[in-house]
Amino acid sequence: MKHTLNIIGGGMAGSEAAWQAANAGVNVVIHEMRPKVETFAHRTGNLGEMVCSNSFRSDDHEQNAVGLLHWEMRAAGGLIMQMAEKHRLPAGGALAVDRDPFAESVTAALKSHPNITVSYDEITALPDDGHWIIATGPLTSGALAQAIQTETGAEALAFFDAIAPIVYHDSINMDIAWMQSRYDKGETIEEQTAYLNCPMTKAQYEAFIDALLAAEKTAFKEGETAGYFDGCLPIEVMAERGRETLRFGPMKPVGLTNAHDPDNKPYAVVQLRRDNALGTLYNIVGFQTKMKYGAQKDVFKTIPALEDAEFARLGGIHRNTFINSPTLLDDQMRLRSKPNIRFAGQITGVEGYVESAAMGLLAGRMAVAELAGRSLPSVPDTTAMGALVTHITGGAEAKTFQPMNVNFGLFPPVEGTKNGRRNRKTRYKAYTDRAKADWQAWLDQLA
Ligand SMILES: Cc1cc2nc3c(=O)[nH]c(=O)nc-3n(C[C@H](O)[C@H](O)[C@H](O)COP(=O)(O)OP(=O)(O)OC[C@H]3O[C@@H](n4cnc5c(N)ncnc54)[C@H](O)[C@@H]3O)c2cc1C
Repeated sequence: MKHTLNIIGGGMAGSEAAWQAANAGVNVVIHEMRPKVETFAHRTGNLGEMVCSNSFRSDDHEQNAVGLLHWEMRAAGGLIMQMAEKHRLPAGGALAVDRDPFAESVTAALKSHPNITVSYDEITALPDDGHWIIATGPLTSGALAQAIQTETGAEALAFFDAIAPIVYHDSINMDIAWMQSRYDKGETIEEQTAYLNCPMTKAQYEAFIDALLAAEKTAFKEGETAGYFDGCLPIEVMAERGRETLRFGPMKPVGLTNAHDPDNKPYAVVQLRRDNALGTLYNIVGFQTKMKYGAQKDVFKTIPALEDAEFARLGGIHRNTFINSPTLLDDQMRLRSKPNIRFAGQITGVEGYVESAAMGLLAGRMAVAELAGRSLPSVPDTTAMGALVTHITGGAEAKTFQPMNVNFGLFPPVEGTKNGRRNRKTRYKAYTDRAKADWQAWLDQLA
């Protein structure tokens, strides 16, 4: 008997998952709530609608991790990339598209596929049997979010992302920063040196507060309520409440001794914490912000040791439903407590159209393998796909898990390549060459 794969959500991830599964001969039903039930960001009833920017970002597959993800999706016959190419607009090195014809083409391709049915209904409960992929995105409807929360626990589902900026470790000046946990807390040396500390003098702190207050901020979008106010205030809001608030909050200098200058007590300290198992990424602790991206770079580069910092991602606070994938999902993207359900797309804690479509592509292929009684071989973490899925299903720190864009900090280093800005071009080329070879070999294995 032919199996049916049910996919909830016909956005970037659900559309791509459906395409992959249907092309492999599986019957697919896409359950999409729009246009019957609307979200505050979507405008149409189309599948694959882009809710904001019309860009899939850089198409440079040699020097950019998103461009590499494009390349890998094209190599796997991805629908989103195929339709993006068809409706491409001139945009320098970026892959921008004419959004309405793009989404109309995605919808037409899926609806005319002999193995796909689209059912326009809202799913409000977690299914107990059958094969399912939940790809309902950052604006998952309230009833389904509630059902997910009941299954996973309140702590495991977030409704906002409060993203602190993430810095590449090799761009931090360790002649200024030092490693130490507050009061040297912890049983092991690793625990006692878990934080990376950047010291500030009084003058540097005062200048930092002035810059924060003056920086340009982004307003919340219509429909995005400011429910973030419990527990994750943006740093500029803390600064507005009083010039000393940050010094008594995330920038407090207590319990720390500057290893480079033990006799001088810092006036304030900015702390960074490891963000991935590889130790290539560090997040600035407690620094969620609504500052505009350009302003963030200017302000954060005034922090001693971060003057040449390169950012894997900048901070933000958005309406975003996502689960704590590192604790909830297995390496096949299945919910551990209900393995008949996979998750894909932005709800798994990746961020962006491309990353979401990419996780849809993988989830679709994993479901196909499972329906055929096989298990998909693990995706090499040297590829953009593998680096992302490894991050969300285990590489990321579960306690501080926040949505992630694809970036080279998620890849295991290529042996023999040198760190530092000067060697970046050669290093990135080595990453992308290795990724392409490994991705192709992985695809060939499935053929
Ligand atoms: C306001 C806003 C602006 C954004 N801007 C950008 C941007 O500029 N660039 C970028 O790369 N990313 C942006 N994002 C992130 C973007 O949403 C994702 O990158 C991408 O759309 C996620 O793909 P997805 O398939 O996971 O979710 P979506 O594309 O949102 O698809 C999820 C689908 O599930 C449907 N659905 C939800 N609940 C149910 C239910 N219970 N039953 C049935 N169907 C349901 C929704 O209607 C939707 O069609 C933005 C997000 C928001 C909220």
